Amino acid sequence: MVTMPKKKERKYDFKLTPQRLAIMEYLKDNKEHPSALDVFKSISKKFPTISFATVYNTLEMLKKKGLVLELAIDPERKRFDPDTTPHHHMICTRCGRIVDLHLGFSPTIPETLRRGFEIERIHMDIYGTCESCKK
Ligand code: ZN
Ligand code: MN
Repeated sequence: MVTMPKKKERKYDFKLTPQRLAIMEYLKDNKEHPSALDVFKSISKKFPTISFATVYNTLEMLKKKGLVLELAIDPERKRFDPDTTPHHHMICTRCGRIVDLHLGFSPTIPETLRRGFEIERIHMDIYGTCESCKK
């Protein structure tokens, strides 16, 4: 989960450069599941000299630190999710929008179907048409 550091708080073990802070600010509470390019486009408005590599490397670093998740839903490009709490995704097959689904319960897979498999995590990708594409 991406949260902004409070003054004097030292909860991050990486250097908080203005660029990194801007990227974190952009990601905080972001529900759009942006790609590295989306982040770059937005951040370069404020930091015109920032390179795509810096944005990309920052996202990879935040991923390694467990602050963002990488989603493999979009075959075109990696998407990032700053919400690391367990949830599922609904994907619009027309516009590619990824919408969160906080189900509030975990689906139970009957023992007989598991074939001895021990389940660690359940993430569902549900495909359909989003509200705006339906109109
Ligand atoms: Zn749509
Ligand atoms: Mn999500």
